[in-house]
Amino acid sequence: MTDFSQSELLRAESYINGTWCSAANRFEVANPFNGEVLARVADAGATEAEQAITAAQQAFPDWANHSAAERSSILRRWYDLIMARQDELGELLTLEQGKSLTEAKGEIAYGASFIEWFAEEAKRVYGDTIPAPTADKRITVIKQPVGVVAAITPWNFPNAMIARKAAAALAAGCTFVVKPAAQTPLSALALAELAEQAGIPAGVFNVVVGTDSKAIGQVFTQHPQVAKFTFTGSTAVGKQLAEQCASTVKRVSLELGGNAPFIVFDDADLDAAVAGAVASKYRNTGQTCVCSNRILVQQNMAPAFIEKFSAAVQQLKVGNGLEPGVEIGPMITADALADVEQLVQRAVAAGAKVVTGGKAENSFYLPTVVADVTPTMALAQTEIFGPVAPVLTFNDEAEAIAMANDTDYGLAAYFYSRDIGRIWRVAEALQFGMVGINEGLISNAAAPFGGVKQSGYGREGSKYGLDDYLDIKYLCLGGI
Ligand code: ADP
Repeated sequence: MTDFSQSELLRAESYINGTWCSAANRFEVANPFNGEVLARVADAGATEAEQAITAAQQAFPDWANHSAAERSSILRRWYDLIMARQDELGELLTLEQGKSLTEAKGEIAYGASFIEWFAEEAKRVYGDTIPAPTADKRITVIKQPVGVVAAITPWNFPNAMIARKAAAALAAGCTFVVKPAAQTPLSALALAELAEQAGIPAGVFNVVVGTDSKAIGQVFTQHPQVAKFTFTGSTAVGKQLAEQCASTVKRVSLELGGNAPFIVFDDADLDAAVAGAVASKYRNTGQTCVCSNRILVQQNMAPAFIEKFSAAVQQLKVGNGLEPGVEIGPMITADALADVEQLVQRAVAAGAKVVTGGKAENSFYLPTVVADVTPTMALAQTEIFGPVAPVLTFNDEAEAIAMANDTDYGLAAYFYSRDIGRIWRVAEALQFGMVGINEGLISNAAAPFGGVKQSGYGREGSKYGLDDYLDIKYLCLGGI
């Protein structure tokens, strides 16, 4: 294990304009597994948020004027440095977030893959020529970076939620200011350290760390110099921040909550469906916005599915994320644990049945399967954000689709079937931004990540991801 007291990757100050900035107060960042304090971090607020935006504004013209090839090679260096330090970054992430070391290292590689991807895409910001309606004119379209981007990110992916946004923004020629979640600022600050080592110029990538998220959020969403605001987090907070952005007509991307259905039809490969459900439900201890939130199983398959699924869930190893073989880490906070506990208790009181798990142990909630869940229970309607799988049943395809779509959310959905006609029908009918078909893990840098309905708008990754950070400009050349 790394001795972080000797490592330049453990930083405890905001990174603004290429400088590590102290503050009057400090707050503790603790390991969710045992509460051990990892760092006392300078608590930045509205003033530092403004300084960061000013720095980003001043750095913008020069960064935008770098050639695409120059930006690309700097981003590529950042990617290389991150991957060279993957093990340490993974450990740091497990320490502050709790997820297993395997998943943490996986997140570092996943986050870095967006930097690699957009280093390549930076070179492909093509414009367009359009036939003009009259002979004396020419129409050209160019794409230009929107300007300063402000971002707010959550604690469940402390590295990747930042990398995914910053990579696209910087590739497009924008400058970037991010406020990570106060529970997990260390991975963000380590990214800043490596950004500096990679040669990203001062002011281009800034990290403002503080506990007063409201005050920082107000500056990010209302500052006239911020052109674009991007947020990943809860739907409630996202709605509020989008509203705040309206007064200065910022461009906004929102990646909000989900309530992912995982549908198992009676023609599915049962073992594949069980493996997919375990992977999709229990990764990151169930604390992701694309985790399966409702397992919908065709009635005649339900007994066999529940038996195999709960047997697989019982095998999951719970413990300190740093220990080899551990798959389920602690919940991020005691409050998060209590929320999950309560959701299960309410479902049981309403007639649901715990098949396995169903209780808390220290900072953990045991991997849980709950059967006999009905669509009206809070457990089926709420984003659970914990290692609990509610199982509901349906009779036919139409009912499955209606149940799956019966939510305000529209982020990810999954289904298992071997019937090609059904696969097309269901894939098209699901009102979700991403659909896994016979697949429980779907996210990668080449694919567009994002939702519909109240799960937000905008796409991250893929060939579409740069569009969120580019303005289209139409040039009309006359007098020819
Ligand atoms: P989560 O359930 O993931 O904690 P939140 O939406 O509460 O979801 O948090 C996501 C991010 O939004 C975090 O960085 C958090 O600090 C920030 N945040 C929470 N409330 C506000 C707010 N009122 N204004 C600005 N940022 C906020």
